Amino acid sequence: MASHFIVECLDCGHKGSFYPAAPNCPRCGGTWQEARYDYSSLAHSLPIQLPGRPFDIWRYHELLPVRSPNADLSLGEGGTPLIRATNLGLMLGCPNIFIKDERQGPTASFKDRQAAVAIAALKEAGITEVVVASTGNVAIAYSAYAARAGIKLWAFLTSLVPAAKMREVAIYGTQVIKVTGSYDQAKKVAAEFARQHGIYLDGGARSILCVEGMKTIAFEVSEQLTALLGPPSTNTETLDNQWRVPDWYFQSVSGGLGPLGVIKGFNELKVMGLTDHIPQMAIIQTEGCSPMVHAWKQGQETAIPIQSPSTLIATLATGDPGRTYTLLRQYMNQGSGGEFESVTDEEAFRSMHHLAKMEGLSIEPAAAVAFAGLVKLVRAGRIKPSDVVVMNCTGHTMPIERNILGEGWSRNLVLPSQSMEESSEEGLLAALSKIGIDRFPCIEIVDDNADARRLIHRILQSQGNFKVFEASDGREAVELAKKEHPNLIILDLMMPGLDGFGVMDALKVQQDTADIPIIVVTAKELTQAEKERLKGHIQSLMQKSDFSSDDLADEVHALLG
Ligand SMILES: [Zn+2]
Repeated sequence: MASHFIVECLDCGHKGSFYPAAPNCPRCGGTWQEARYDYSSLAHSLPIQLPGRPFDIWRYHELLPVRSPNADLSLGEGGTPLIRATNLGLMLGCPNIFIKDERQGPTASFKDRQAAVAIAALKEAGITEVVVASTGNVAIAYSAYAARAGIKLWAFLTSLVPAAKMREVAIYGTQVIKVTGSYDQAKKVAAEFARQHGIYLDGGARSILCVEGMKTIAFEVSEQLTALLGPPSTNTETLDNQWRVPDWYFQSVSGGLGPLGVIKGFNELKVMGLTDHIPQMAIIQTEGCSPMVHAWKQGQETAIPIQSPSTLIATLATGDPGRTYTLLRQYMNQGSGGEFESVTDEEAFRSMHHLAKMEGLSIEPAAAVAFAGLVKLVRAGRIKPSDVVVMNCTGHTMPIERNILGEGWSRNLVLPSQSMEESSEEGLLAALSKIGIDRFPCIEIVDDNADARRLIHRILQSQGNFKVFEASDGREAVELAKKEHPNLIILDLMMPGLDGFGVMDALKVQQDTADIPIIVVTAKELTQAEKERLKGHIQSLMQKSDFSSDDLADEVHALLG
């Protein structure tokens, strides 16, 4: 049966058929090849057929290296939601940030796409045993699909992978080999094992199957953005029925396979005339393991491997990105443009908290690296407020939590043993009171603008445990302060009726409100006389235009001790 695609060698340009068991170029032996499909005919047929298909990765099956998708192997991969990050967007001043929520895939990471396509194609080719090296998520995704397909999996994991993650790999029946050493060492051992025993080795970024699985993110994102925001506005009639492309696509990377696939996906949409450009890529690494970022910033074509990655985020600890970096750099320089950036583990952990507290998304530290990168690039002015940004977001909140949550994140509720129902309720209330639910500092936010109040509320919510009250005008602010006795007031100056100065004066004349610390947050350019008026009565003055959430949080924490 003739295949619906061919493979082309990136080194010698040889074109031929695809045989999973013989992945190297038959002419030059090269290990880097790409799949090419019949784009001109798909450009016509696909837009007509897509609307009637289920929203999963197999809706694009003509663009995937599997001859006949087998529904029995499917776990519902792909078709994850694209969620607007309203509160994060508010905080960063970028209203069009969207999260591709890959947590909602079968094993909660975007590696499900790669595993689903790879295992389906390998099953089709009659392959019964597979070796994979992984920093965790790939092994979990492959394990699930291999179990379903009845393929025996050998997973080589670096000993840095948390034990809970290793156990999750093992529960699917995968043989786990724990390699005491770096991920790069684990990869070498896995390759040698596969060679010695003649077992299929998953090629990662070199594997056509993996890259092809990943590219489905680009297809889905474009379809979803078009549905959410409408087709792009264009001046030419020929661009009717165009799909929308984000201005930026963000992803944290270890080896770089993800963005390699995503770029290919966007390229294919462009080749088919469904889009007219591809997004800028923001590739974010953790500082303790950022060979790509170093090479990019120094304009180097190849990345120098890092021997001993120094990061708590084991999932991202690929020290040697090899040719993947060179290819990404080449694609970005030639087409998409973009940025490689690094962030610290601490910045990533902070973003993890932000996402959970502001958007209700508990994500894994590796995914949080991308969000920390977003904060950094927005603050550097690299991302424009009007830009449409898509964030790749993966789940698996793993035991690394212990490192980031510190002590005291949980409170023990010990119930006394009582036989009488009534007294047991009393006991419960007594026990509850001991865990101090009411002991959070109380903060009053005063601003006539609802969005401004919401933003400050979200910042406080993301930065600590506070009880927050809001007042929308001066009179309400004074009443609320008398009633609730807040530990701190965050006050806007320009309000209709009683303005911020009036509120300040009213609080100062009342004995029980006179000593409440005040942070003024204002858009107003203050005159010298106004500054004099505030002097000695407020603790801090912040301009709305240029304070960061961290600045505000620092002030709040300092004032509350
Ligand atoms: Zn070749």
